[in-house]
Amino acid sequence: MTTMTGSAPKPDMSWETLLNDYRASAVSLLRHHGVNGRTCTECGQPVPCDALRGAEFILEL
Ligand SMILES: [Zn+2]
Repeated sequence: MTTMTGSAPKPDMSWETLLNDYRASAVSLLRHHGVNGRTCTECGQPVPCDALRGAEFILEL
């Protein structure tokens, strides 16, 4: 019987820790990408910009 250990590069880094990390950066990203009318103040794209959509996706996980 073989074990599945050794495949993860960082065994002490749990999925939950990783997710919290993603969420923290998503929140700060949401703060930077403010909405000014219909465009993002940070990248000038129509909202939601790519960054905002990515952040919202992460926060819904
Ligand atoms: Zn943006």
